[in-house]
Amino acid sequence: MFDKDQTWASRAACAGTEPDALFVRGAAQRQARQLCFTCPVRMECLADALSSNASFGVWGGLTERERRALVRRYPEVSDWPAWLRREDDELITELRAQRAPRIIARMRAAHSA
Ligand code: SF4
Repeated sequence: MFDKDQTWASRAACAGTEPDALFVRGAAQRQARQLCFTCPVRMECLADALSSNASFGVWGGLTERERRALVRRYPEVSDWPAWLRREDDELITELRAQRAPRIIARMRAAHSA
């Protein structure tokens, strides 16, 4: 489900930055996303990116690789905004932390358990 309300974008930490700053490739995404962890609308941004299958650049503090892994791990999720609001999932708690989430390591650990 794609949230049509895009008013959150005006509060984005990246609203005043160089447009290409978050559209870097590979390892540079890890550095670029530091801005996201100060962003008051990070979860809205992430939900939007997951809902619209944004494939390039940093969104919501996640790299392309991390978002791909998340979508692959949860193919049944159709409403990402609702999923990200859940309180009962450790991975979502990790995603909400104000630092780079260790989601790939967590997903690997959960898969091998
Ligand atoms: S989370 Fe990052 S990419 Fe998304 S709006 Fe905030 S600063 Fe921009």
